Amino acid sequence: MKLAAFIYNGKERVGIVDGADVFPLPGFSSMEELIRAGFPEERTEAGIPLKNVKLLSPIPRPSQDIICLGMNFADHTKESARFHPEIVREDHAVYFSKHANETVPDGGIVDSHPDVTSQLDYEAEVAIILGRDAYRVKKEDARDYVFGYTILNDISARDVQKRHKQFFLGKSLDGFTPLGPWIVTADEFPYPPEIGIRCTVNGELRQNGSTSSWIYGIGDVIEDLSAAMTLKAGTIISMGTPAGVGMGFQPPKYLKKGDVVVCEADGIGTLTNTIG
Ligand code: MG
Repeated sequence: MKLAAFIYNGKERVGIVDGADVFPLPGFSSMEELIRAGFPEERTEAGIPLKNVKLLSPIPRPSQDIICLGMNFADHTKESARFHPEIVREDHAVYFSKHANETVPDGGIVDSHPDVTSQLDYEAEVAIILGRDAYRVKKEDARDYVFGYTILNDISARDVQKRHKQFFLGKSLDGFTPLGPWIVTADEFPYPPEIGIRCTVNGELRQNGSTSSWIYGIGDVIEDLSAAMTLKAGTIISMGTPAGVGMGFQPPKYLKKGDVVVCEADGIGTLTNTIG
């Protein structure tokens, strides 16, 4: 089931996408509200053609920072080592947070912030959305906490992240979190999921990986994080990017105004954004 957030008749709604229509779910004005209330099962309103609504990111204003994994693919760890030799490590997962006042929907513009960065980069990732509060969850039970999957483009200002020794600032500029186009519920995928993920820039294939190559899987991550921290329902965890980011090329291929970045994940869809 595909769950989307959208604006129709000036109101923010959430609904089930089926073919070319979206069926609004009554009583919910946000995805986080819907997730906290449990799995939606009934369509009680008539479908609206998708072309008549304004699609939003599925979680337009996350109520908490997004949790991200750094270097969760071996090939990306290798390319990152040239840029960040000081932080590459493989014995434990690398976690950081990404702040997003507003996430960017499919079709939205990513502000390039040319006054702050000259090393703008993309990272196509599959993100998981938690469906329940998680505390002290064991690896083997983690599956029950996954509500669904979506695509996140972890836009990064490499010069800023390097300058400040931590990822937080360089990953959290306004507009740096394209998310969507919707959430696909976990029941649509095997577990652990095997989702091909790709990224093109102006049609050139840059990244081509699969979630089957994650170094740390969903069970590892939820067990680690929830051991002494409650993860709230609705938490977004972005699971890391495969090789092929701009900083990995020699010379690097950073993004510039007008570039079109498409992140695509099998079974989820495409997230297309233009650099503005
Ligand atoms: Mg990332």
